[in-house]
Amino acid sequence: MTTIAVIGAGITGVTTAYALREQGYDVIVMDRQRYPAMETSFANGGQLSACNAEVWNNTGTVLKGLKWMFKRDAPLLLNPAPTWHKYSWMGEFLYNIRNYEKNTVDTVKLAIAAREPFHRWAKQENIDYDLEERGILHVYQSKKGFEAGIKVSELLAKGGLERSTVTPEEIRTIEPTLQGKYYGGFFTPSDSTGDIHKYTRGLAEACERKGVTFMMDVEVSSIAQAGSKHRIQYISKLTGAPQHPESVEVDALVICAGVGSRKLAAMVGDRINIYPVKGYSITIPLEDEISQTSAPWVSLLDEEAKIVTSRLGNSRFRIAGTAEYNGENRNIRADRVNPLTEWVRYNFSGVSTENAIPWAGLRPMMPDMMPRIQTGKQPGVFYNTGHGHLGWTLSAATAEAVTALVHSSIKP
Ligand SMILES: Cc1cc2nc3c(=O)[nH]c(=O)nc-3n(C[C@H](O)[C@H](O)[C@H](O)COP(=O)(O)OP(=O)(O)OC[C@H]3O[C@@H](n4cnc5c(N)ncnc54)[C@H](O)[C@@H]3O)c2cc1C
Repeated sequence: MTTIAVIGAGITGVTTAYALREQGYDVIVMDRQRYPAMETSFANGGQLSACNAEVWNNTGTVLKGLKWMFKRDAPLLLNPAPTWHKYSWMGEFLYNIRNYEKNTVDTVKLAIAAREPFHRWAKQENIDYDLEERGILHVYQSKKGFEAGIKVSELLAKGGLERSTVTPEEIRTIEPTLQGKYYGGFFTPSDSTGDIHKYTRGLAEACERKGVTFMMDVEVSSIAQAGSKHRIQYISKLTGAPQHPESVEVDALVICAGVGSRKLAAMVGDRINIYPVKGYSITIPLEDEISQTSAPWVSLLDEEAKIVTSRLGNSRFRIAGTAEYNGENRNIRADRVNPLTEWVRYNFSGVSTENAIPWAGLRPMMPDMMPRIQTGKQPGVFYNTGHGHLGWTLSAATAEAVTALVHSSIKP
């Protein structure tokens, strides 16, 4: 049997392991955390959002970004301290403005392709992840923003996504709890929401039941070719010391390590230029009846505030947003969390934010915002990584794509 190591047990690694196992491969998942889904796949915005497939490489976003750069509570924050990684990434980001339309259309197609396997796997494995199939309501505060959104709708339609234009009155009908004033919006009934952590953990348990081995608490420190195999060295957090790495030999490997993928790619001679783009979420426990009835069930995306929401069952409300270019830094800053809490207060004044739980995660972002599903320079090395702001939405499609790629060169 062919043994494949999947490095990373976030949403991309676990979906990849599942898809590979379904094809009959012997799979080992390796991760430095104690449990699956403890890094970026822990508490994200929860949206399965083909409607949010627009890539950020456009002139309007860059100009807005420049305006926001030095405002502490703006949706985007850049630490201007010079690092080669950050500025080379930004150079490539600007270069990719020319691919804005194509990449947006390709992303929406991928998001639509992901829906079928994503829901099939959840049903097949009986995973409870607080799925809400009530659509996503995209709202705009200004006429200018709304008009820019019409152009995005045209691109999304080219990729096969239908979303309808809605007036302020229709916004109130679709989500009666929303109190803020909005100029207009778009509604995508085919999108949905859920809890990424619960889904990933549920699918990881299904993988284990099907015979996938999970090696947790191991940090991969080097990868070398050993004849026709690959030797993966790792430091065990439980038993190992950095000077005494242990190793495992496999026939092939798939790198699904989120923001850790760039370092792992360098170990096998590849360049995967992922930058960690920090975002925040708050999860509000809806502990009293007023909070429960005041919180929305339909998922929202406030375009100007760059905030997304998900209702996770009756008793949790998740709000996420902001983009921070500040390296591999997971610190939770009060001045970045505060705009999320204030947004809830403005839009849903009956929701108590007293016990909101803050979280920060790092989006594994490529400069063209497109995930990398590809082979490496060395035979037997594959990638499924770099999903940026849409890893939850795209993961099932990219897992199937990388599995097809593996299958085309190595049989189980
Ligand atoms: C605030 C925020 C909101 C978001 N909202 C949404 C949303 O609404 N919808 C959506 O689709 N997406 C959203 N995203 C994006 C989505 O969450 C990510 O794209 C996705 O979680 C990335 O998954 P991953 O598997 O690539 O990375 P991760 O979940 O980070 O998994 C990578 C794993 O690799 C492991 N690893 C790394 N290096 C090594 C090593 N050397 N050795 C061993 N293990 C290693 C890590 O421990 C980790 O477990 C959001 C992200 C953020 C931050």
